[in-house]
Amino acid sequence: MLWRISYFLLWQIAGGGLGLWQGGPWGAALGAALAAWAWFVWDLLRGARVLRWLRTGDLSEVPSMRGIWGEAADRARRLLRRQEALIRDSQDRLQEILAALQATPNGVVLLDAQGRIEWCNQMAANQFGFDAQRDVAQSIGNLVRDPEFTAYFSGQDFSHDVVLEGRYSTPSRPVRISVHLHPYGDGRTLLLSRDVTALEQADAMRRDFVANVSHEIRTPLTVLTGFVETLQTLPLTAEERSRYLGMMAQQALRMQSVVQDLLTLSRLEGSPPPGMAEWTPVQALLTRCEEEGRALSSLLTQNQQQTHVLQFPSQEVLRLEGEVAGVPTELQSALSNLISNAVRYTPAGGAISVQWLRKDDGSAVFSVHDTGPGIAPEHIPRLTERFYRVDRSRSRETGGTGLGLAIVKHVLQRHGATLDIASVLGKGSVFSVTFPANRLRGFVLPG
Ligand code: ADP
Repeated sequence: MLWRISYFLLWQIAGGGLGLWQGGPWGAALGAALAAWAWFVWDLLRGARVLRWLRTGDLSEVPSMRGIWGEAADRARRLLRRQEALIRDSQDRLQEILAALQATPNGVVLLDAQGRIEWCNQMAANQFGFDAQRDVAQSIGNLVRDPEFTAYFSGQDFSHDVVLEGRYSTPSRPVRISVHLHPYGDGRTLLLSRDVTALEQADAMRRDFVANVSHEIRTPLTVLTGFVETLQTLPLTAEERSRYLGMMAQQALRMQSVVQDLLTLSRLEGSPPPGMAEWTPVQALLTRCEEEGRALSSLLTQNQQQTHVLQFPSQEVLRLEGEVAGVPTELQSALSNLISNAVRYTPAGGAISVQWLRKDDGSAVFSVHDTGPGIAPEHIPRLTERFYRVDRSRSRETGGTGLGLAIVKHVLQRHGATLDIASVLGKGSVFSVTFPANRLRGFVLPG
């Protein structure tokens, strides 16, 4: 301010001095008046320059000047800089929050007080079929047409969630989305959505499983109690008694097998996958499989005119095959199970061939080929489900529990191996197990 007054006085003195020199005391007064006007106009122009710059606020073109206008411009520049930094900072934070919301595995939609979309993440866009950019400002009620959602949204009772059909849900691939609305701020709503398809499927599977187990146990139990009642109430001959007791033993054995298989499955699920510490010779594994397969075949065909034609790899070949990593009992039971199925489902006279082949990539394939009834394509993907059977009566006749392939799949998964099933109805089936190269060792090249 002192500078400003000093400048004004300097202009006055210069104007007055010039006037005095040119025209005496009147000249001095006129000179001072003109100098005051000139200073006023000069000052006005400087102020206008600062004002013009303030209108654009362009920090790269800050007017450089001294005095009060220079200071005003400088202070404004500093304020603008600070403001800009603050804006940049909050924009960065907003972007970080939006990026975090994008990264959540759940759908997030921000709705304004009128129920219009303000922002939504990609997950929500996928679940509801929105376009994350185009559908901004669209009313959620127009985009999600499910009557359940409409009732939920208009009901304004957001204490619970609602489960809707996903946008791309089909009967063969159902998608179920749980939607929960949370009010916040001044009338705004946060919509959170979650894909609950797997959860609902697991729940349905659990219910099916409990129903299946109950059924599998209840059926032989009903038969057993029926026989007990008969034995208790009817006067039977010794021969009848022993026949009934034989049938009771059969039912008890059936229950025992189901319980045994269920325990095996739960043990497999509950224990960590086997490491690479334990190794089993392929020769021992397949020799045991052969013994069990032949024993089962002769048991099943003992009263028949024909037997099975069984073929296994020769001991000479197996001797060169080295070892496979894993728990011997588990591997043994899985491979034997495939052979036992082939024997059980192939009628007498049919052929069953077991092979062990090394591939060029170092992996090995164990396969069981049979000339049994074959399996229709629609059943193949479901064979490893618990209690899934194509032919219930045939499975029971031969002592099947419907859990065999589920156990096989589990054991193989734990050992890094895969199961492939190929079958032609009426011709036969091939069950192949591929062991990866890293779980095999000690293979000796023939020759
Ligand atoms: P199960 O104890 O009933 O044999 P699995 O889980 O071992 O149960 O097999 C499931 C179903 O797959 C069987 O019930 C049967 O219908 C079918 N299956 C398995 N192996 C064969 C095969 N080699 N030939 C024909 N059907 C088979």
